[in-house]
Amino acid sequence: MTGQIRYSIIIPMYNEEAVIQETYRRLKKVMGSIGENYELLFVNDGSVDRSAEIITDYGRWDDTVKLIDFSRNFGHQIAITAGMDYAAGDAIVIIDADLQDPPELIIDMIAKWKEGYEVVYARRTKRSGETRFKKWSASMFYRVLRASTDTDIPVDTGDFRLIDRKVCDEMKRLPEKNRFVRGLVSWVGFRQTAIEYERDERLAGETKYPLKRMLKLCLDGITSFSYKPLKLAGYLGALLSAGGFIYLLSVIYLAIFTDNTLKGWPSMISIMLIFNGFILIMLGILGEYVGRIYDETKARPLYIVREMHPAAGSAAHGRR
Ligand code: UDP
Ligand code: MG
Repeated sequence: MTGQIRYSIIIPMYNEEAVIQETYRRLKKVMGSIGENYELLFVNDGSVDRSAEIITDYGRWDDTVKLIDFSRNFGHQIAITAGMDYAAGDAIVIIDADLQDPPELIIDMIAKWKEGYEVVYARRTKRSGETRFKKWSASMFYRVLRASTDTDIPVDTGDFRLIDRKVCDEMKRLPEKNRFVRGLVSWVGFRQTAIEYERDERLAGETKYPLKRMLKLCLDGITSFSYKPLKLAGYLGALLSAGGFIYLLSVIYLAIFTDNTLKGWPSMISIMLIFNGFILIMLGILGEYVGRIYDETKARPLYIVREMHPAAGSAAHGRR
């Protein structure tokens, strides 16, 4: 295919050899049915399986296939960012490699885009085939995020979305290291709309988001869009000292005006544990923010590319 690329599909992949062939097949079918130019931009996020080889092979005879091959695993959000940095299309779609996001939905997204929307995100009405814990934790994640941030980040919405070139260009100007892409897209603004879908089961392989990574994503989401947690320390402190003061008054009163001797070893210990716990939690929250400030000041590049396939044409895009 020649000429200006109309659509870029970004597919981040980390050890997805079990599904990537089927994903490729489904995407080809969908994009073929649209009848406009497109590129399939795979980002290999340091897979240790054959994912990259499979895509490189496809690239030999299919020139819509492109590969950004990272030097190691940098994480899902960074992989998407790299995709945006190199995407050439007028509209850019981000989709998971595991077919949990149905590629067929891209057709609806494109229709909305042609109506004039600049961001079309896909909201899950149902998730099938995931453990009850995953569903619960995901649901909690979106609600906690919503309650604690000032940016209006839609709930139950992952990174599966279409963004206009304008939005993509704005995203490229955001330099932060601990990225929460869906929040940044909300922050950027523009005309946004949702389409709804039922999230399928992962076709094969297992989730690359264990609890630890989900927590990291959640903390990135909250800390990059709100400092309410920091203010919490102030409120909590004020509340506690007010309570302590009132208690002190009552103790003094009892000591002066009655002959009640106060005994309270166990209550002392529990109160000490609780309040020391509060202080450590608050220090922990502080640490999360300070650590992120540290990450920003290091000013390291977001990711390192080992290779691009095809090599030519990549120089025009990218960060740095
Ligand atoms: N992924 C990635 N780098 C990582 C972890 C995940 O590029 O470090 C990709 C993964 O290959 C998939 C997408 O991000 O295409 C979403 O991951 P996954 O399906 O494991 O997350 P879940 O759907 O279970 O939340
Ligand atoms: Mg998945």
